[in-house]
Amino acid sequence: MTTLGRILYVEDNLENRILIKRVLEAEGYTVLEAANGREGLALAESQRPDLILMDINLPDVDGYECTRRLRSADGLSQIPILALTANVLEGDRQRALAAGCDGYIPKPIDVDELPDVIAAYLKKRPPLPDEALQKDGQAAEAAPNPKLSTEAEKQPAPDVRPPVGGEGGSVTPPRTLL
Ligand code: MN
Repeated sequence: MTTLGRILYVEDNLENRILIKRVLEAEGYTVLEAANGREGLALAESQRPDLILMDINLPDVDGYECTRRLRSADGLSQIPILALTANVLEGDRQRALAAGCDGYIPKPIDVDELPDVIAAYLKKRPPLPDEALQKDGQAAEAAPNPKLSTEAEKQPAPDVRPPVGGEGGSVTPPRTLL
């Protein structure tokens, strides 16, 4: 199954979650839901979504604090985070940006506009280190990243031999990812 991307939606309001999930799934996204800040932080860490929609008013850890924690977490700091706030006061927008959000979406959410906004932020995402390396192959060869080389050496060579036992063997390749 293909997906345009995996979006984590951190939102305590069930009706909003149902609505936004429906809209985004119809567009082709996979939607992960969290009903509070702690769930959101745990899912962000375990699932590494492509983008996070972050409600600001949450019952436990609020969206500002969640964003600050995500921004200081290893491997999560580059994920685009869009704040959702019912409050249109300029001060709250600035606070969301100061906490590390990439942008904000006013509530009530305009469901016609939301997919375009999300697509725009997914495109703006900075390339991951691996992708940057591929785009800059010459530089990567001239100055190999010692950390990446070490990791590559540690990986066992993939076993591409056909399964022993002839056709119809029941050997299945090992799954290395959950
Ligand atoms: Mn809320």
